[in-house]
Amino acid sequence: MDDIGWHALVAAAKAASAQAYCPFSGFAVGAAVRAADGRIFAGCNVENASYGLAVCAERNAVFHAVAAGAREIVAVAVYTPTPMYATPCGACRQVLLEFGRNAEVLCACEGAEHGRFTVSSLLPHGFAIPPR
Ligand code: ZN
Repeated sequence: MDDIGWHALVAAAKAASAQAYCPFSGFAVGAAVRAADGRIFAGCNVENASYGLAVCAERNAVFHAVAAGAREIVAVAVYTPTPMYATPCGACRQVLLEFGRNAEVLCACEGAEHGRFTVSSLLPHGFAIPPR
């Protein structure tokens, strides 16, 4: 682990996954973001009977950070209680890009493998205003 403090970030993501509201998919996800000021914000996926209204853990974590005044995200941990890790969906990649273009992403699970990425590698040529 490096100065990102991945252990604490993954622990926060794992704790959030235990709070996931996912009665329709049964797929619990937790995410935690570290803001540039060091604070950690977590989120879980929240589904709805109207399926399209579901919001992913990653976006909930980012929105939690923004609501607390954080505007720069430096790291993201995503945790799923599955044998293989999962990566953020396209919508979440776009939201992560808005606040953490250079953020590092660690995708963890119950299995031994984990994924390490950057937001810009997960969403190359992502949309931004102004274009970058
Ligand atoms: Zn997503």
